[in-house]
Amino acid sequence: MENILTIDLEDWFHICEVEHLLPRRNWDRLPSTVVADSEKLFSLLEQSGSQATFFVLGYVAEKYPELIRLIHQMGQEIAYHGWDHELIYNLAPDDFRQVLRRGIECIENLVGRKPVGFRAPQWSINDRSVWALEILAEEGFVYDSSMAPLRIIGNESYPRNPWKVSTATGHLWELPPLTLKTPFGRYPAGGSWGLRCLPYPLIKQRVQKLNERRKPALFYFHPREFGGKRSVPGLPPSKKFALYGGIWRSGSQLARLLADFSFTSIENYLDGEKSPPTPL
Ligand SMILES: [Zn+2]
Repeated sequence: MENILTIDLEDWFHICEVEHLLPRRNWDRLPSTVVADSEKLFSLLEQSGSQATFFVLGYVAEKYPELIRLIHQMGQEIAYHGWDHELIYNLAPDDFRQVLRRGIECIENLVGRKPVGFRAPQWSINDRSVWALEILAEEGFVYDSSMAPLRIIGNESYPRNPWKVSTATGHLWELPPLTLKTPFGRYPAGGSWGLRCLPYPLIKQRVQKLNERRKPALFYFHPREFGGKRSVPGLPPSKKFALYGGIWRSGSQLARLLADFSFTSIENYLDGEKSPPTPL
């Protein structure tokens, strides 16, 4: 049974809700760490022979084309994460379509094939933006991984396993992240917060339970979580904590996870996967 590993390929200053402190116009002047941080992540993947899907931000692809080509040459899947880390529910449908087309063209030019998968920044396809699924299907995407079964950023009633959505413009697979039920609601166990804050045996047990039912667990990480703590100018302590709190253990925790379970990309996982579509 294979599980699913995904990486949102972006820089540290692409974290959400800091736009007033680190506006887009300043990004080119900030100290970028995405290339160095990615190298640490690559060595973890290589050691374990794991496959992953890299959701590439257009801004990063344009700035570091060699990084994208390298990931492609490593045999990893290149998918798309938006251009400037736009939250989808803040976009007009036509603007979203333009963001998609710009990314498809950029990625195709870099690696010779169009991306078939999309992840919205901060899981921002939710009740306010389900219209985006129709546009994704129309623009040729095969799957999306942007709807979290979590409160606030998504909706706890969303499916917790991969499902096929039927939209007016075609079918689209939806791949949700691993979550854990707690007395306070569901917790994003599949992200770096899971590895940084939860006891590892709890995560391991949850993945084993899912795999016994022939369901995959989907994990999602960012390069900045593996490059070590860095000095980040201009952020309040709460955001510094969000970036680097508990980060000393994320590399060793991921190494354990990759040793205990087998991981593949979303595209590989979906190959041969069959399921009847569910209307939205
Ligand atoms: Zn992101």
